[in-house]
Amino acid sequence: MKLQVNDIRKWMEVSNQLIQENKSYLTELDQAIGDSDHGINMARGFQEVITKIQDQTYETPTDMLKDVAMTLMSKVGGAAGPLYGTAFLKLSMAWKDKDEIQLNDIKGGLQAGLDGIKQRGKATSGEKTMIDVWEPIVQLLSENDNIDSSFFEETAKKAMNDTKDLKATKGRASYFKEKSIGHIDPGSASSYYIFSALSTSLEGA
Ligand code: ADP
Ligand code: MG
Repeated sequence: MKLQVNDIRKWMEVSNQLIQENKSYLTELDQAIGDSDHGINMARGFQEVITKIQDQTYETPTDMLKDVAMTLMSKVGGAAGPLYGTAFLKLSMAWKDKDEIQLNDIKGGLQAGLDGIKQRGKATSGEKTMIDVWEPIVQLLSENDNIDSSFFEETAKKAMNDTKDLKATKGRASYFKEKSIGHIDPGSASSYYIFSALSTSLEGA
């Protein structure tokens, strides 16, 4: 299992496809416990990512992910833009000078991305945010030497659904207090699409 520049490109393309297909769903989730913009923010940002990277030649995953990070930071908006931007920037830095990304690099990179999100959002697990999808992925990766490509899709899906039972204590959803319980966190859903796309790009890689 290893990722090269073109696999990372595929990861971003499939992320974009899933986000475009589920734009209304993400907006619905953010309507319940936010301000209804998450689908619009993410669809705009990821479309810009594809526009930015599609015709460029990149030497390394790091170079491509730096562009991805900068685009997300400047084009997504809301709370999620800087958070995803930070995550992808940390990922890019963790993979510096590598042509091929192995499972161990994925572990280290996602750990760095998670740490970046936590730092930037001043949040931790259990607060009903995207962290509640990233954290179990990083945790289970650290406990397993072997995973198959479906790991990311399956783990993220369960983690996303588990955010339903949590009470939001960070971000806009925290204004809803107890009423935030019973709804999936929008950022956990968009993170699920990103991890689902990672599974797709790992198939046969
Ligand atoms: P906004 O809340 O500014 O409208 P979005 O709707 O685009 O931004 O994104 C909301 C998502 O961002 C939430 O569902 C949650 O997953 C994530 N989020 C919000 N605040 C934080 C935070 N402090 N730390 C981590 N994630 C957060
Ligand atoms: Mg919102």
